[in-house]
Amino acid sequence: MQHLIITHGGAGSPIKYRDSTEKAAKKGYSVLRKKGNAVDAVIEAVVVLENDPRFNAGTGSRMRLNGSIEMDASVMGSNLKCGAVAGIKNVKNPVKVARKIMETPHILLAGEEATNFARKNNFRYYNPATKEALKKLEETKNKLKNGKIPVWAKKWKKFEYKKFTGTVGAVARDKKGFAAAVSTGGTSFMLPGRVGDSALIGCGIYAGRHGAVCATGVGEEIIRHILSKSVYDKIEILGPQKACELGVSLLKNFPTGLIAVSKDGYGMACSENMACTVASKNLLKSGVQ
Ligand code: ASP
Repeated sequence: MQHLIITHGGAGSPIKYRDSTEKAAKKGYSVLRKKGNAVDAVIEAVVVLENDPRFNAGTGSRMRLNGSIEMDASVMGSNLKCGAVAGIKNVKNPVKVARKIMETPHILLAGEEATNFARKNNFRYYNPATKEALKKLEETKNKLKNGKIPVWAKKWKKFEYKKFTGTVGAVARDKKGFAAAVSTGGTSFMLPGRVGDSALIGCGIYAGRHGAVCATGVGEEIIRHILSKSVYDKIEILGPQKACELGVSLLKNFPTGLIAVSKDGYGMACSENMACTVASKNLLKSGVQ
């Protein structure tokens, strides 16, 4: 199999952010060439995107309604080894903590103990808050005060979701297998404690011997459809592009994006714009829509 990596900057992310998805894809591809390992490649690619404050992951993560920042991330390889964090606070790169958890007997650590685990493993205190994230929180609070927002029971509105885009992810293929990784500060109007799809294997990501898949969009809907595993299950029959398109159509009323790779192809689909890049030996291509 030939090395290949795809990176994305979230369902609804402006295409102009592809400078960053390209940088991340190039970084991931160089890791594939040097180390030949898809897991290392997706981690390094996601780190580049977590460090870009324009995205809602790592630095620049959105705030919960109480002003806290709780981040979710996960990683999985085609040997079914995986690691994830939910609601982790004050680390620079949640995806690296997820990678560390992969080395333990466990899969998912949540909340305070996820943060404690990070500290014990030398992930230093880091405040991912940005002025932009604070501004967005203030806007949300004002709307809530004025009763302008469709609150919990009401349907998500695309225009509201869009302000919170910027979850980041990657899928990659090395000579022997596949990997997927994702990282997010969450989505709009989050209660403290809310865990989204990005922390849940099968929902935000999935990888196995047929390929790897990464999803972005409204976490609650992605979880309901176990979206990444559902798309993965169709990869062999439909190929990755058609499988991604089918996945997007399953959640037709919600902004949804998917990237996928298999042994002989790749797919990228989104109901909105999505900054994303695919990189392989003779290819560097960006953008959906
Ligand atoms: N899926 C993420 C979440 O719900 C958000 C996103 O992908 O934009 O936490």
